[in-house]
Amino acid sequence: MSRIVYVNGAYLPEEEARISVFDRGFLFADGVYEVSSVLRGKLVDNQGHLARLHRSLGELDMAQPASDAEIEGIQKALIEKNGIVEGLVYLQVTRGAADRDFAYPEGARPSLVMFTQQKNVVANPQADKGISVIAVDDIRWKRRDIKSVGLLAPCMAKMQAKAAGADDAWMVEDGYVTEGSSNNTFIVNAEGTLVTRQLGNEILAGITRAAVLRLAEEQTLKLEQRRFTVEEAVNAREAFITSATTFVMPVVSIDGKPVGDGRPGEVTQRLRELYIETAIDAIDQC
Ligand code: PLP
Repeated sequence: MSRIVYVNGAYLPEEEARISVFDRGFLFADGVYEVSSVLRGKLVDNQGHLARLHRSLGELDMAQPASDAEIEGIQKALIEKNGIVEGLVYLQVTRGAADRDFAYPEGARPSLVMFTQQKNVVANPQADKGISVIAVDDIRWKRRDIKSVGLLAPCMAKMQAKAAGADDAWMVEDGYVTEGSSNNTFIVNAEGTLVTRQLGNEILAGITRAAVLRLAEEQTLKLEQRRFTVEEAVNAREAFITSATTFVMPVVSIDGKPVGDGRPGEVTQRLRELYIETAIDAIDQC
């Protein structure tokens, strides 16, 4: 069934939606995006996603295409028009259309595109058995804190994982894990400490990562935000990833070696439950 999507002020069936061939998102990956999950027909952690959108736009001197209230209004309208109960809303802002030139054009009108996708975010069968990952070289640019639509390197990492029979890739730079192809990475080490890489230009500041760190603090888990190696991860008790659409997802093998007993760990499962409970509580209050 055809979806209704949003393109620059219009709600249209997806077949009728159009973007210019001169759009700089198409020509230069000159754009940023956000993905918010939808649970029970409501947006999860959306304020965090909109705040990060502002930051990404600011870092690229790109104009905000609409106010937060307007953007959220469109997100909600798309959820409603497409009858999404569980899934995601994708939003993308590009610098707009202009003659091809590396320099940013003056006065281009940013384009705003949004669409929904249905996905079982809670009853995700992968969460019960966990996922496998392989380590790959992180070949991305140096501003991974900006949520840019230039995603070819992570697509290649994902394809390397698929070719190796794994579910995803953990990217490694200078001997340390940066992040997953589209998620942040965590381990629970032998001492029971939750370890995740510190924020910086090397990784995206995940909205789910931040929520999970808040929950871990409430649970008085020991926390360390620092780099870790693949070897440390393989020898950890537990490992997991976080992202808006996977929430907390157990990682049960790295490069073919089991993490812990090769099954989703206790801390991981508890954090997943807590994340979902907290998201549902927040939804019930709005
Ligand atoms: N890191 C990368 C490279 C990502 O692409 C994503 C999500 O797309 C994340 C981390 C997780 O961020 P969030 O929890 O905000 O979805």
